[in-house]
Amino acid sequence: MSDQIIIFDTTLRDGEQSPGASMTLDEKVQIATLLDEMGVDVIEAGFPIASEGDFEAVSEIARQVETSVIAGLARAIPADIDRAGEAVRHARRPRIHTFVSTSPIHLEHQMKKNQDEVLEIINATVRQARNLCDDIEWSAMDATRTPLDYLAKCVEVAIRAGATTINLPDTVGYCVPAEYKAMFEYVRANVPDADKAVFSVHCHNDLGLAVANSLAGVEGGARQVECTINGLGERAGNAALEEIVMAVRTRADVLPYTTRVDTTQLTRASKLVAVASGFTVQYNKAIVGKNAFAHESGIHQDGMLKHAETYEIMRPEDVGVRATSLVMGKHSGRHAFKEKLAELGYELGGNALQEAFRRFKDLADRKKHVYDEDIEALIEDHITEDAESAKVMSLTVIAGTGGPQKAILVMDVNGRHVTEEATGSGPVDAVFNAVKKILPHEAKLSLYQVHAVTEGTDAQAEVSVRLEQGGRIESGRGADVDTLVASAKAYVAAVNKLMARRRQHAQAVNAA
Ligand SMILES: [Zn+2]
Repeated sequence: MSDQIIIFDTTLRDGEQSPGASMTLDEKVQIATLLDEMGVDVIEAGFPIASEGDFEAVSEIARQVETSVIAGLARAIPADIDRAGEAVRHARRPRIHTFVSTSPIHLEHQMKKNQDEVLEIINATVRQARNLCDDIEWSAMDATRTPLDYLAKCVEVAIRAGATTINLPDTVGYCVPAEYKAMFEYVRANVPDADKAVFSVHCHNDLGLAVANSLAGVEGGARQVECTINGLGERAGNAALEEIVMAVRTRADVLPYTTRVDTTQLTRASKLVAVASGFTVQYNKAIVGKNAFAHESGIHQDGMLKHAETYEIMRPEDVGVRATSLVMGKHSGRHAFKEKLAELGYELGGNALQEAFRRFKDLADRKKHVYDEDIEALIEDHITEDAESAKVMSLTVIAGTGGPQKAILVMDVNGRHVTEEATGSGPVDAVFNAVKKILPHEAKLSLYQVHAVTEGTDAQAEVSVRLEQGGRIESGRGADVDTLVASAKAYVAAVNKLMARRRQHAQAVNAA
């Protein structure tokens, strides 16, 4: 059997399903593009029947992604399967992933069906899917609480009906590794055509065992691992992609498998998903946590200086961690700035470069040390502002114990300067109220988050804001050494996106 593990990423489906983690279409496409570039084999892009937005995301990703297989999820319902088939239709390599519950507790309480009826459903739905697409994954929901002989029967029916991948998930995060491995061994030994399908693991982390279980399933013969960036996912999350990939790579001596994933992209992927989902990564998270490679204790530091391998089992650069380097200050010239941009992967010409340089100088005046991360924040902040949108020109805030806090905001709206004043309970509230006076809207604020781009009290603040209006979610980001200015920029960026969406919609209605 091949020892290459197929990495199946479900950040955009299982991950996005976790309460509060919903992402915009742009963010999803950006994440899928990066996953494709880094060598993820299969991207589960969404659950097309769940909503119009999900359908749109899956079909857009299917159109844009070059190499990865694009999967759409469907329940064992004909309309679901048709919708999933339609969403992945334009993918270079489409997959329909359909699932049904198999455990007695689900059959009795959720499905209200007996075992024979479920076998019939598996047969019919897998055949329907197979008529739409050659690559079919079938999942036995709650497999780990299903009697083994019945589970084997279900798998046999699914393979006979045309399933090419068989996923046996630990849906409720209940299994322990030895048990999970034994389940795969049993099913593979007792299903006649087991070698006609690839077996897959899908583990939840309710007991903190998702990665351990996934690796045990691989030892039991599974060759696909379903996982998510940062372990994002419902409840305690899914198995973390970065942990699976680095465990296999670091312990090749006892885990003789390979993946196609370029590990130097793991940190980038982690940051992108953290920002898009609004779920920050805990400091002590394995592989991608801020402290994952920080050796603080005296004994460790001494050992590290003498020979890194005394305490380091992985090198930070292997997962794409760059040492924070002091790059430039207020005396750096345009040429050095342009070179730095190229090194960070940005190609700006003409006016965009001019404008970016002006912003850099402005930042260097206010902040002593300008790091790579500062420049990245500055550029990304700039990229999100398009020409016709409203911009923050200046902001004055009166804050402190006295209250009510007051904001005086000047904005450029279509070339016209508008000034408004507002109060609020707290300075952020006052700033947002001032924005609302200039750009009236009904959207509800569903997330407000501040991160420091680097260390120190003069660090730039990066603010993420998420707004919700009529089921639509738009997020905005803003960076500045002043947290309140960053907040205003982030909020305005999100409102700009809402308004752009409204304009597009109005145009579509007029055209129709
Ligand atoms: Zn799941």
